Amino acid sequence: MPRRRPGALRAARPASAPRWGLPPARIHGLSTRTSLAIARVEGLPGDNYVYSGATDQALRRYRRFLQPAGRRPRYPQDAECSCRGCSFDDVRHARDVLDEVRTRLPPRPRAELARAVGDLDAAYLRRTLPDPFAAERQWRGDLWWRRRLAGGREDPLPASGEPTSGRRRR
Ligand SMILES: [Zn+2]
Repeated sequence: MPRRRPGALRAARPASAPRWGLPPARIHGLSTRTSLAIARVEGLPGDNYVYSGATDQALRRYRRFLQPAGRRPRYPQDAECSCRGCSFDDVRHARDVLDEVRTRLPPRPRAELARAVGDLDAAYLRRTLPDPFAAERQWRGDLWWRRRLAGGREDPLPASGEPTSGRRRR
């Protein structure tokens, strides 16, 4: 995803440069302290899917999935490519990343991230439907966010969150 962000491409900053100008980039909805703790976790080696900016990206992806107004159920879609950028096409991957980061955080930032994710989880549970056969057909069916009915493609919503034609309001 970062490689697709036009601003980042234009600026052609080195990968280690702060994303929004001043270090550390505070993650939307989280305190500076927690954002810093997350940046530290993201800087640790060992997990291909937890990298600098991944938590911010995961939160944005989770929010975007829940963004469309209305009461129609939402269905997570599979990612067509398993690289760490495309994996976010599947909102369940975003939730996996958030869980992985949470477990690596010290108690206070962990609690703050858990609260932020918990609000989104509540919306996710409202907007998705249970899949009674998830254990047989879902990868990691032990994770509750993977035991929801999935399939097809999500409604087209550009990564920027801008309204598409025929969708004047979100
Ligand atoms: Zn890919």
